[in-house]
Amino acid sequence: MKAVAVRPGTPNSVHLADLPMPKVSDVPNGRGVLVKVLKVGVDATDREINEAKYGNPPPGYDFLVIGHEAFGKVQEVGKNVTHVKPGDYVAVTVRRPGKSIYDVIGTNDMTADETYYERGINLLHGFMTEYFVDDAEYIVKMPEALKHLHVLAEPMSCAAKAVQQTYEIQRRLKVWRPKLAYVMGAGQIGILTTLALKLKGLDVYTLARTAPPSLPAEIVTNIGCTYVSTKQTPIEKLAEKTGKPDVIVDATGSSAQAFGAMQVLGKNGVLAWTSVTGGDAKVEVPADKINLEWVLGNKLCFGSVNANREHFELGIRDFGMAEHLSSTLGS
Ligand code: BGC
Ligand code: ZN
Repeated sequence: MKAVAVRPGTPNSVHLADLPMPKVSDVPNGRGVLVKVLKVGVDATDREINEAKYGNPPPGYDFLVIGHEAFGKVQEVGKNVTHVKPGDYVAVTVRRPGKSIYDVIGTNDMTADETYYERGINLLHGFMTEYFVDDAEYIVKMPEALKHLHVLAEPMSCAAKAVQQTYEIQRRLKVWRPKLAYVMGAGQIGILTTLALKLKGLDVYTLARTAPPSLPAEIVTNIGCTYVSTKQTPIEKLAEKTGKPDVIVDATGSSAQAFGAMQVLGKNGVLAWTSVTGGDAKVEVPADKINLEWVLGNKLCFGSVNANREHFELGIRDFGMAEHLSSTLGS
């Protein structure tokens, strides 16, 4: 079976590799699901893997099959699989369990282990193949009515997790009625987070460098949010106009931007960092000022990575809601 792989450590090493055809029985206890791959998304993580800044091959291999945003059709299931059947469209989670308590309770996205296992990224082959088999636990059914959104299920799960964690964390405040959110970055995570926050009823500003017209600007506007080019309006200027936001989600891929966001967050606010930055960039920040404002303002910053099946399901529900409201979201 053909697969697309890289040699981690060697930049620009994408090549065709060969893997044995997987079988449902590769997964014990009748829990295997064989999926024919229909589509695989490629994102900035794949770019970093190809640039040899990130990612590791499985033990015993000198190559890593890439692809972690997969969409496919179930071909065959083991005898103990009940939630999907042959013919169903499915997405698949990325991280597999390690040993920490968080992995044991099925929240691999929260692993406390130093080593983490991610299909197509770290120590496990990915989905850019003809077929794959996985445990039913990691296979998420995609309603046929949403099959046109296919590979977006995975990035949406990461956006849904960041938003869900934001609300979970803010329970510290007893009363939290956020009104204004900034999303930094208009790549797939930025746009999908914009959608998830809009569906929560927030006034969302999505900030990115490019001046409109652009496809991201058009999408953001069509879902009833405001696109801001930071070339035209720097974030500090925007905050002077709108007031400081209750929520900021950084999805720029730039650690400088992630730290910069600290200067405009409102009191009692929460800043979610979602960018995976494999480089070693350094930035200078007004540390005393930020420290003072953050202490006096009870502000909070957290990192959010990956997603478990709960977040895939949340994200797919958001897609359903967005499709249902699509004609009115922008009005
Ligand atoms: C993937 C996540 C993964 C993260 C870190 C992202 O591109 O979508 O599933 O956890 O990279 O490796
Ligand atoms: Zn990704």
